Amino acid sequence: MSHLVKQWIREDIRSLSAYHVPNPGKMIKLDAMENPYCWPQSMQQEWLEFLADAPVNRYPDPAAEKLVQQIETVMAVPKGMKSILGNGSDELIQIICMALSQPGSVVMAPEPTFVMYQMIARFTNMNYQGIPLDKEFQLDMPAMLQAMEIHQPAVIFLAYPNNPTGNLFSAQDVRQIIDKAPGLVVVDEAYHAFADSSFMSLLSEYNNLLVMRTVSKMGLAGLRLGLLSGSPEWIDEFDKIRLPYNINVLTQLSAVFALQRYDVLEQQTQQICRDREKVKEQLNQIHGLVQYPSAANFILFKIESPQPINSPAVVLQTSSSANKTAGEFMLDKSMSSDMIFAGLKNEGILIKRFADTSGSLANCLRVTIGTAEENQAFINALKKQII
Ligand SMILES: *Cc1c(COP(=O)(O)O)cnc(C)c1O
Repeated sequence: MSHLVKQWIREDIRSLSAYHVPNPGKMIKLDAMENPYCWPQSMQQEWLEFLADAPVNRYPDPAAEKLVQQIETVMAVPKGMKSILGNGSDELIQIICMALSQPGSVVMAPEPTFVMYQMIARFTNMNYQGIPLDKEFQLDMPAMLQAMEIHQPAVIFLAYPNNPTGNLFSAQDVRQIIDKAPGLVVVDEAYHAFADSSFMSLLSEYNNLLVMRTVSKMGLAGLRLGLLSGSPEWIDEFDKIRLPYNINVLTQLSAVFALQRYDVLEQQTQQICRDREKVKEQLNQIHGLVQYPSAANFILFKIESPQPINSPAVVLQTSSSANKTAGEFMLDKSMSSDMIFAGLKNEGILIKRFADTSGSLANCLRVTIGTAEENQAFINALKKQII
């Protein structure tokens, strides 16, 4: 590292490693919670016509008024509340942290959860406190309440449903956290389209609650658009540090267009929910894994071990070893989910594995619900690995 870089780039930034996104190449991509469906051809055509006179020579509407109005209607933001848009909800997390950051201020979240809370807390010089979820991936309320008391977090992020676990926390627990929190609570409803529960309608009940949504998981990930709603008091402060043209012309127009045809997106997300139930059933029939309840468009599952597993990959590894019994194989505990990840990749299917193999995600993998064909290809490939 050059002397100048060392001299001027913050030490905590130099010590980070960049957020790694694997290149899927031609693989079936079931790693990033994307909606697998395109738009009907006629709709695509209309969209292109809609974009044809986009004034790309002009700066976009800095407040994106038309889009804000429309998205608030679609997302049922209560009257009297206000919203700002972000270049993805990631940018909104960043805006929140920038506004709250001061020496010693704390960001809190249960763990495991969405990694950007921790990463952005670090970039913005805040202290991050991760509080482990319980065995069912529910909020560990005594631990949360105690940590809130000790650390006095400026903000608590609760992903609802949670990523990567897929479940909804108990709504009663979330309410208790909002009640007891000394600062803000942001309920991140990125997967709202796949769940039956929301805190949006409760915004007017709590003056320290904000609700965040994104269009990414419902079929518009490429547009980069998120929404943060809450009382004008808070939103007006955040709006001061939002860069004025953060939502570009093409995104503003495309989102307005797509939200006018929200029924198409809804049909797609409902299809994904039905297919999620089918994948759950099929996973249930596979011996040697446990899946966790999901109210999102992905499923977290754990490779149970030690388990007798009869896989070609394992045969290669253990054919000469002593633990072979009647065509079954004991899998090395620390290797199994990695091996299955690699086996699926060999079959052209990309899912998500986790860097942390010691914590509660040990031996876990996460699969996004794709089209019926993609899901079947995933199940078939998985069976090849572990039946
Ligand atoms: C995917 C995801 C987001 C990020 O959404 P973008 O709008 O694409 O930035 C936010 N929160 C959670 C919990 C997510 O899983």
